[in-house]
Amino acid sequence: MSQDCIFCKIVQGEIPATIVYQDELATAFRDINPQAPMHVLVVPNRHIDDITALSEADEPLAGHLLRVAAQVAAQEGLATPDRGFRVLVNYGDEGGLVVHHLHVHVLGGRKMGWPPG
Ligand code: 5GP
Ligand code: ZN
Repeated sequence: MSQDCIFCKIVQGEIPATIVYQDELATAFRDINPQAPMHVLVVPNRHIDDITALSEADEPLAGHLLRVAAQVAAQEGLATPDRGFRVLVNYGDEGGLVVHHLHVHVLGGRKMGWPPG
């Protein structure tokens, strides 16, 4: 756990969040400021700063985060071709990263624009 990391605190249950899925490697919880009717963040339970900090040894974990993202979308009834969802990871100022604990956004419940803004 990284000191003063808000997502580490959510994983540890030290600050409240609506957790929709949790296992030994990952936690998924609803975004506090949702950008779509369904907006969930999937995070590794272990603190990793961001996508650029992933090591080769983290590849199974990174794959797990993607699988949990799809699982959460399925839980929400969005993992069908007619509904759908979007998975994304921000990095850097231009990419829109704000919170420095790796997280995968899962958004759905409305038509997503392309290209993203
Ligand atoms: P980023 O821009 O870093 O990719 O996304 C960070 C996300 O975390 C934002 O969508 C923001 O709304 C969300 N967020 C920030 N603080 C909290 C919090 O305390 N609880 C929850 N559930 N989400 C948060
Ligand atoms: Zn953290």
